[in-house]
Amino acid sequence: MASSINLAVIPGDGIGQEVVAQGLKVLNAVLPQDVKLETKEYDLGAQRWHRTGETLPDAELEALKGHDAILLGAIGDPSVPSGVLERGLLLKLRFAFDHFINLRPSKLFPNTATPLAGSPEIDFVVVREGTEGPYTGNGGSLRTGTEHEVATEVSLNTAFGVERVVRDAFERAAARPRKKLTLVHKNNVLVYAGHLWKNTFDKVAAEYPQVTTDYLHVDAATIFFVTQPERFDVIVTDNLFGDILTDLAAAISGGIGLAASGNINPTGAFPSMFEPVHGTAPDIAGQGKADPTATVLSVALLLRHLGYEAQAVRIEDAVSADLAERDGTARTTDEIGDALAVRVAG
Ligand code: ATP
Ligand code: MG
Repeated sequence: MASSINLAVIPGDGIGQEVVAQGLKVLNAVLPQDVKLETKEYDLGAQRWHRTGETLPDAELEALKGHDAILLGAIGDPSVPSGVLERGLLLKLRFAFDHFINLRPSKLFPNTATPLAGSPEIDFVVVREGTEGPYTGNGGSLRTGTEHEVATEVSLNTAFGVERVVRDAFERAAARPRKKLTLVHKNNVLVYAGHLWKNTFDKVAAEYPQVTTDYLHVDAATIFFVTQPERFDVIVTDNLFGDILTDLAAAISGGIGLAASGNINPTGAFPSMFEPVHGTAPDIAGQGKADPTATVLSVALLLRHLGYEAQAVRIEDAVSADLAERDGTARTTDEIGDALAVRVAG
């Protein structure tokens, strides 16, 4: 646990600016007096691209490497062609910093709306692989634009890449009370990748006899997310399945205003990046309507990653208490941030 935190902040676009301000407010309030917080803001995203045509220049990529962690709001704008900022900024960062763990916890807080029937117990974590699968840009198009166009999108799976994410997931499962890990794949159809994932999973499982293991095809997993979410503790899965499952997870556990995530490099070789799952929400940007809770919970993940477990728990407890007292009265982004900051300062 460092006695100082040197944080890079990328507020980004739309509500990113608004929610990050609240995240920082709560971070400042929760940190002990003797922990020095230094922040440096990076102007990256749609506005920067419009002004300069740049997405993530090498000099800034280098500068980002010097931080302990990164807090990101949201990046994008309908005015920027699709893919420019995703590939040129977000995926570039993820690959450059080797963020091979995409961590997305789902917990149903008290007094929180879920579209599921009854009062389901939801408290699980998805460990999504972050640097392989079909997201590596391997593929191409032949006879482009003709009626005989052929498009390929290769799913890349390496023994090294699969084993490191599977190991990380076992570590996380072993540290939780229920100690249960579910592998989600589709190894009856995607046989080559599925074989590598299942074999690796079974091999590593032998080293963790205290962890109960389970395997589900991804299609079955979507059913159980809705009908029996309580069966899940930790889930490990590939990049694409994880992308889809975590949106479903957010939908069943209080919605997009609460979903936090971390793009993590557990080796510490590069800074990890924490961000709300939601996007820039142009429809409500600038109106003070955005719920900053997802960003505040992302700050908790950031603190836990840096070794500030007690402070992470304080934030999660504050969110839980705040949600329990919500009565439907509309509050501004700023008011929610203030309320959480007061609670964590205790
Ligand atoms: P992007 O392209 O950046 O992902 P988007 O248009 O897909 O943006 P999201 O940000 O993912 O939009 O939001 C989807 C919907 O959820 C929008 O209607 C938005 O207003 C709402 N929303 C997203 N985040 C929040 C939030 N923090 N608080 C309240 N509503 C939100
Ligand atoms: Mg979106």
